[in-house]
Amino acid sequence: MDDYIAISMLNDFDFCPYSIYLHNVYAGADESLYHATPQTRGRIAHETIDTQRASTHTSDLMALPVYSERLRLIGKIDLYRAKERLLIERKYKLPQIFQGKIYQLWAQYLCMREMGYEVEHIAFYEISTNKMHHIATPTETDEAIFISFIDDLRHYNPATPTIINPNKCKHCIYCNLCDKTTEDNVYQ
Ligand code: SF4
Repeated sequence: MDDYIAISMLNDFDFCPYSIYLHNVYAGADESLYHATPQTRGRIAHETIDTQRASTHTSDLMALPVYSERLRLIGKIDLYRAKERLLIERKYKLPQIFQGKIYQLWAQYLCMREMGYEVEHIAFYEISTNKMHHIATPTETDEAIFISFIDDLRHYNPATPTIINPNKCKHCIYCNLCDKTTEDNVYQ
């Protein structure tokens, strides 16, 4: 499983490729070094899923490990409502749905389908507003674009010149540890 990619890295890579390099550098470090409040809150929302407290429906699947041999992806889903054939990713706040987040949901969807689960619908659930945001499942064209994105991630070289977006840096969890910026993290 050496070349398997964690589904959680897809959003980070879409946000800023260099963050993938920093993620590996600081893997295993004390998370309080870089985790800002929104990320901590989001992690707690996920821990609720992981400890099986988010649903009482017996047909629901929570924190199910998923993988795809075809795409060489591995990860975990939040919640699958079998009766509705609906895959849900919970976020504490979701002011905007960036493509990286959609890639993560597509990845979970494609993994589940390959594993034999019947998934017909996918959605984000925003905890803070109690709103469900339905997302289209990937078309063949979407899937080709997605595969090319995964390929870029798999072959990423941190020596590649990084396009710096100061606004992104301010909201990046690695901001204070990154050698590419002198911005301060807005969460400090
Ligand atoms: S601080 Fe900026 S350059 Fe560094 S990883 Fe984050 S977004 Fe990328």
